[in-house]
Amino acid sequence: MTITTDPPNRAWGTKTTPGEAGQAALSETDEVSWGDPSRTGTAFDFRTDAITTPTLRQLAAIGRATLNDDVFGEDQTTTALERQMAATCGREAAAFAVSGTMANQLALGALCQQRPYGVLADASAHVVGFEAGGLASLSGATMQPVRPANGLHLTVGDLEVHARVDEEGGEGELGLPWTACPTRVVSLENTAHGNVIPLAELRAIREWTAQRGVLVHIDGARVWDAVASGRAGTLAEIAACADVLTLSFSKGIGAPIGAVVVGSGAVIRRIKRLRQSIGGGVRKTGLLAAAVREAVLENFGPGDVDVGGVFSVTHDMAAAVTRMWTDRGGKLLRPSETNMAWLDLASAGVTAETLNGMGMRNGILIAAPRIVLHHQICAKALVSLEQVFDDILVRRKVEGADGPGAFGLRSKGCVQNI
Ligand SMILES: *Cc1c(COP(=O)(O)O)cnc(C)c1O
Repeated sequence: MTITTDPPNRAWGTKTTPGEAGQAALSETDEVSWGDPSRTGTAFDFRTDAITTPTLRQLAAIGRATLNDDVFGEDQTTTALERQMAATCGREAAAFAVSGTMANQLALGALCQQRPYGVLADASAHVVGFEAGGLASLSGATMQPVRPANGLHLTVGDLEVHARVDEEGGEGELGLPWTACPTRVVSLENTAHGNVIPLAELRAIREWTAQRGVLVHIDGARVWDAVASGRAGTLAEIAACADVLTLSFSKGIGAPIGAVVVGSGAVIRRIKRLRQSIGGGVRKTGLLAAAVREAVLENFGPGDVDVGGVFSVTHDMAAAVTRMWTDRGGKLLRPSETNMAWLDLASAGVTAETLNGMGMRNGILIAAPRIVLHHQICAKALVSLEQVFDDILVRRKVEGADGPGAFGLRSKGCVQNI
């Protein structure tokens, strides 16, 4: 009888054939990217704040993580993160999720309990346009997208016009017709594309919805920026306005992966079961939770207000970018309140493709019309951006040949400005 064994040379990192595996092993040792945004290119990347790369301190924290099973609920690092986030947000419980998208879907799924249900959200919200229709396929809910009248974020005024709610007593003079799909949940984004929902407005929405039996979800992928702006309240004050709040750690917080949902004990228990049902219960989450805990400390701080200072630097950069544009006569699509600048390209007579292409030739990546600032953008990238603005608004240069692209600058020794 022949005993089949694995073929030799199957160990990790062993070069079997001169090919990809060997290349990967080489680049792992020769080109370590941890903690170096100029090497990874994020120092020159204005497309999104999700692009940041984790720091060496996060790597060290991963080394200290517990390695127990979170499907069993036994991993201490993960549990500590959940407890810490629940406490910081002044809520009973929290559930870790591997992405903000999953966290949003779980949060909304847990609120959609009594069919038929509609979820009212800003038409440009992440849950409407960037979650692959998950609300329909996972929760069977109807999305009720609304364009905010103020062009920035939803308000009570928008709800008064668009929410489909039964008045007191249900079907009656003022009630909804039986044919309507009632709004059971309002989903808000804070920040909404960089714009802050002021705390007073959020509280008014909470009161309006509570009076009508409508639940509130807040997508707080960038809630850190909202808090750091000083106009949105603390994490706890914001969380108090929602049945569930999702927070992402892979935007301004700068962790590699991860999000949490906070809410009541009952809603979090429902969320953990839903999470398991879509394969989101994962095992050694301590690795991720450790990096997240370190990233929160690095960039925001341990409490419910920003003491890290990193967000205010990022917001100052966005204000500087906005001035670079408007001082040259450019107009904005939205006011810059946190870490984004929204350029009005039409009034500058330039297309997004042209602007992005000019960025590439100047060694920076842009996804116009949105310029997103994050803590790994370097001073040199801002200078390149200013040159692009000059070319568009001052020298009015048009398309030329393609240059070396964003990564051509990697080796030129960009110094991180923070
Ligand atoms: C990025 C983002 C998400 C999703 O977060 P991921 O962790 O990238 O899945 C959700 N909502 C908003 C508003 C976002 O910007």
